[in-house]
Amino acid sequence: MAFLSLILFGFFSLSICMDNPTTFLKRYGYLQSGYNDNNSLTSAIKKMQKFGNLPETGVLDKQTLKLMSTPRCGVSDHNHSGYSSKKWTKDKLTYKIINHTPDLGLAETARIIQEAFDKWSQVTPLTFTRGYGNTDMIVDFGNLRHSSCAFDFDGPGGVLAHAFFPPDGRTHFDEDEHFTDKTTAGTNLLWVAAHEFGHALGLEHSAVQGSLMYPYYQGYKEPFVLHQNDISRIQQLYYGSGGATVPPPPITALPPGACTNFYGDSYCETIKYGCTWDHWKDFMRNNCYKTCFCKA
Ligand SMILES: [Zn+2]
Ligand SMILES: [Zn+2]
Repeated sequence: MAFLSLILFGFFSLSICMDNPTTFLKRYGYLQSGYNDNNSLTSAIKKMQKFGNLPETGVLDKQTLKLMSTPRCGVSDHNHSGYSSKKWTKDKLTYKIINHTPDLGLAETARIIQEAFDKWSQVTPLTFTRGYGNTDMIVDFGNLRHSSCAFDFDGPGGVLAHAFFPPDGRTHFDEDEHFTDKTTAGTNLLWVAAHEFGHALGLEHSAVQGSLMYPYYQGYKEPFVLHQNDISRIQQLYYGSGGATVPPPPITALPPGACTNFYGDSYCETIKYGCTWDHWKDFMRNNCYKTCFCKA
């Protein structure tokens, strides 16, 4: 209802109707607190629109309000905490699961969490092992005031989860969401977890629509593969701008009828350095057999 009156009365009724859009703009790093004049608001709205791939009108039009009300990650789009280039300084990382979501049960939650970490293992030398004592990363589910965290969750919709950059490594999921697996209904836990772990590894949000690190929830899609933008950014963070330099993959005898790339030739080409990595062997064999093991 409040959003509706904004549409009807337009941008200048903003301060009268509600503080929701300004709260949004401040929370996600588009508007500095104390700057509520129309020029600052217009410029903040334009930046938010640009990052969300909308026309930069500077006005709270229908599609802008729609994007603002789209479920999303709680991490700011412009991080000013100084953590932006932080990363882990070791390859073998551990994590523990404090609490699981009853939506899926403990075993399913644990499987999906590991699968989400694996998405990043597949394009980096990092490995993620579940532990129980002192671990590098911590995964937790909670609602509203949760996990001794400074940032409360907001009930169903809105913020789905948030995570803290290295060397913190905490990831919290909003238990007021209905987390699901392999369905378009509810909130896909694999997608949200993989996104949050991107932050826990040091990545900020990306303005590239379709990338995993885009801040807004984009729904369940099959198959789940990282966008080239996500791959480039995590590799830039962990290898520097030159990306990974790897020796050519080993060429082995061609097994009859198996010379195919399940993940497609172009995707496999982007991760072909993984052909030589020990902990990737099974993944590459299953998904990029042609690229890794077939003679050209
Ligand atoms: Zn995020
Ligand atoms: Zn939290």
